[in-house]
Amino acid sequence: MAAGAADRRDPEPGPAGEKRILCVGLVCLDIISVVEAYPAEDSDTRCVSQRWQRGGNASNSCTVLALLGAPCAFMGSLAPGLAADFIAADFQRRGVDVSHVAWQPRGDVPCACCVVSAASGSRTIVLYDTNLPEVTARDFERVDLSQYKWIHWEVFISKDVAQHFGYRSAPEALRGLRSRVQPGATLICAWAEAGADAVGPGGELVHSDAFPPETLVDTLGAGDTFNAAVIFALSAGRSLQDALTFGCQIAGRKCGIQGFDGIV
Ligand code: ADP
Repeated sequence: MAAGAADRRDPEPGPAGEKRILCVGLVCLDIISVVEAYPAEDSDTRCVSQRWQRGGNASNSCTVLALLGAPCAFMGSLAPGLAADFIAADFQRRGVDVSHVAWQPRGDVPCACCVVSAASGSRTIVLYDTNLPEVTARDFERVDLSQYKWIHWEVFISKDVAQHFGYRSAPEALRGLRSRVQPGATLICAWAEAGADAVGPGGELVHSDAFPPETLVDTLGAGDTFNAAVIFALSAGRSLQDALTFGCQIAGRKCGIQGFDGIV
């Protein structure tokens, strides 16, 4: 399954010559235990169900883009082994192009143990960030940019990052971080049940409320779903307001189901 640098080829454009969306970033193995309620420390309990899932932000966003019907590709590091076999098979099942995966000769594929609480829908993640080398600028230079209409790195600000910087809401984070990005940039920040806010290139502020599902089931990957849906809409030429609303709709639907099947 591993491909050397010489074997890497750029994929053909999607059906009818449609350009693709490339997501660059993390892929990992998620081992997910769904519990009735979040367990106490040092307790010994049973979970309701358990599953392996291909995870990682960029990888999850590719899953959602594929489900939305957008031809997409993933770029990130993997090292050959059992976890990578599982991950590669799952990418293939979803129709995500993996020709830009940087196969590393050493290192371990990162793994996240995730506890999803059925009572609250919360997800608690413990990621083992392994010694796997990152994708390099040299890897990226091999990408034929003409094949892509959108390349996603880190533009979006997550609630976790915003809180880390001391912000208590999405509008506050946007106001605070705007001076740190290039003039004319668009900044987007999702904030769980508060929905999402954005500031456009001209400084216009945009907001969408969340679309809470009837029952909150699984919020693991909600942010990645939101990002993918926003990228999907923006790359199709829709307005920032439309994209934000669509992102919250799809992310809300995701929160009402386990995993990603059923978001569209
Ligand atoms: P993450 O923590 O996965 O980065 P967030 O929790 O900020 O992402 O959620 C991303 C988007 O998912 C939100 O903008 C919202 O639309 C939706 N979402 C997340 N949690 C909820 C919730 N409890 N109720 C309704 N929508 C939610």
